[in-house]
Amino acid sequence: MTQALSSLTTIHVGGVPEAIHIAKSRDELIAIAKDVWHRTENFLVLGGGSNLVASDELPGLEVIKVSNLGVEHVGQGIIRVQAGENWSDFVIHAAKSGWPGIESLAGIPGTVGAAPVQNIGAYGQELSLTFHQLEFLDYQTEEVQLMSKADCDFGYRDSIFKRGKQGIITWVEFKFETDLPAEHIALLESRVQEVLVLRASKGMLLNDSDHDTWSCGSFFTNPIVSEHFARTLPSDAPNWPTAEDDGATVKLSAAWLIENAGLAKGFSLPGSKAALSSKHALAITNRGGASAKEVTELARYIQTQVANKFGITLVPEPNLIGF
Ligand SMILES: Cc1cc2nc3c(=O)[nH]c(=O)nc-3n(C[C@H](O)[C@H](O)[C@H](O)COP(=O)(O)OP(=O)(O)OC[C@H]3O[C@@H](n4cnc5c(N)ncnc54)[C@H](O)[C@@H]3O)c2cc1C
Repeated sequence: MTQALSSLTTIHVGGVPEAIHIAKSRDELIAIAKDVWHRTENFLVLGGGSNLVASDELPGLEVIKVSNLGVEHVGQGIIRVQAGENWSDFVIHAAKSGWPGIESLAGIPGTVGAAPVQNIGAYGQELSLTFHQLEFLDYQTEEVQLMSKADCDFGYRDSIFKRGKQGIITWVEFKFETDLPAEHIALLESRVQEVLVLRASKGMLLNDSDHDTWSCGSFFTNPIVSEHFARTLPSDAPNWPTAEDDGATVKLSAAWLIENAGLAKGFSLPGSKAALSSKHALAITNRGGASAKEVTELARYIQTQVANKFGITLVPEPNLIGF
């Protein structure tokens, strides 16, 4: 029998799809995708399953599991990484190799191919800073195309792919500064260790025995609102400048909004096996045996409480599949 998605996703929910096709090379990925697309529109491109919530019922869904591996030098400071490579392993490899710019992204789960989808970011770095280009198999045209940074139109936890451009990223190229002095290389490696410790303390580093990490990471993005609106919030509500830094918009803390809407860390609805992480109010977690329905019910409850208290609708960060 086909595996349930609950065993292939980090929040451990999701029913049994129709089929799972595992692609172990770029060419196999392209061939499998075209084959599936000729059969059905009901497909899911799956990497590490760390940023999606799949429904308990997935009738007819065909899953394309991206598992192609390889890291190669293709030019001065340019590294091509196959989409199925583990992101955090690549960060550790980059730090050891003296390639700067992604060390603060250590410990983010998932694959390299999914990293551009939401322009992953943490602790002041984001993928777009070292991104060079990627190869994309377009669902509409079935053509393979190269996409530059401008083509991907990256934003805060956002890109053209997150906004609906359908297809498959087969590999990603990064451009790193080269010839870093030895002492700087050592700094990259210590930064990786520092970030891994910090993440573990917040339940943001995968650990099978810690249910606080059975999540999709942050469940909601930090809302961006007008500076004028932000002034209507309590004075202790944190806000930061946005990437535009135009003074007209600011970014709020979704975790602060949740906690100040009365939902403390560890909160759950009566009888539900989904709960806020005990370490971080922004992560919805599976305490063991939760259903996708329980996860989405809690998410909706949080949205309602925050909207009622502050007039802000929190936007989910993970992709919701089959709802
Ligand atoms: C504990 C924890 C901590 C996290 N911390 C962070 C963080 O600090 N910062 C951050 O940005 N994110 C964070 N995340 C979210 C997540 O790790 C990232 O979004 C990651 O890039 C998802 O990768 P994945 O391979 O698991 O993608 P999946 O969950 O498998 O897929 C996510 C989406 O990308 C699509 N996709 C996957 N692979 C491809 C591909 N090759 N081509 C096209 N589309 C594809 C899928 O169809 C889906 O829509 C965290 C998650 C967890 C569980």
